[in-house]
Amino acid sequence: MIKIFIYIFAVIGLIMSGCDVQEEPQRQTEFGLVIHGGAGGITRDGFTPEQDAAYREALSVALQAGYDILKNGGSSLDAVEVAIRTMEDDSLFNAGRGAVFTSEGTNELDASIMDGKTLNAGAVAGVKRIKNPITLARLVMEESRHVLMAREGAEAFGLHYGIETVPEEYFFTQRRWRALQRAREREAVDDSRGTVGAVALDKEGNLTAGTSTGGMNNKRFGRIGDVPVIGAGTYANNKTCAVSATGHGEYFIRSVVAHDISALMEYKGMPLREAAEHVVAEKLPDLGGYGGIIAIDRFGNIAMPFTTAGMHRGYVLDDGEIVVKLYGDE
Ligand code: ASP
Repeated sequence: MIKIFIYIFAVIGLIMSGCDVQEEPQRQTEFGLVIHGGAGGITRDGFTPEQDAAYREALSVALQAGYDILKNGGSSLDAVEVAIRTMEDDSLFNAGRGAVFTSEGTNELDASIMDGKTLNAGAVAGVKRIKNPITLARLVMEESRHVLMAREGAEAFGLHYGIETVPEEYFFTQRRWRALQRAREREAVDDSRGTVGAVALDKEGNLTAGTSTGGMNNKRFGRIGDVPVIGAGTYANNKTCAVSATGHGEYFIRSVVAHDISALMEYKGMPLREAAEHVVAEKLPDLGGYGGIIAIDRFGNIAMPFTTAGMHRGYVLDDGEIVVKLYGDE
């Protein structure tokens, strides 16, 4: 008799616990890539049709490069690195070739990458002769025992692994030089519109985030922004999402933006969009900060919120359709 009761309770228990099990959301896409090319005072009126077309083309090229990797079963790490390298090589962006100038007239570049599977991360700050800082960040992650390396030490480490270096003049562009003179006249430190970032989900379900920048126009030399600070400008965790940020870096560091979005998902069970909106549109402005982020979660949901007039951004999912947007009204 007792055995029968135990059996009945066990069956009821099983049925009840079955009721508690929440269905896992479905994967939205087999893989996906989201990129940004910086946030700021980007309005339709401020762009000629040629400039508009050039930015759309540059973002599409970066998306296509990452898409080709993901479609062929490549890793999100490779897709993020390639998409960012493509933008670093294009002087339109404030990363790599088109980096802004410091108050001293030098170019000091920051970058980082994070692997959501292992929570490994690599970052470089203030490098001056590295053609593709994102690749050096990946080398730091994969080949060193460290997470963040700076200036000459980071460069020497990269040289040891055969990283491509360039003379400092490589980063000289008239457009950024003029922007420095204007900022000097106003004694201002500008947001520079053009930091680049990428987040990806691959077929294996692995998430990666990466970001690369020249920082802010007319920043003090030696200033380091949010981009190489893991958890501020970049964060990835297979349990939650991958995030890359752009905007006034000091506020992103103080708000720990990228990790905060992941933490809201992990600890509060918030969906990606809600978490991203909360941090970018509420928490950040409360401190006085502005900018935007791109993110993708482990199901392939994406978010691209920003509080500036515009943000250069785009995405591609497994259907291969490349979507690019520049302004706030699209
Ligand atoms: N977040 C970058 C920095 O503060 C700049 C930007 O994204 O525009 O260095």
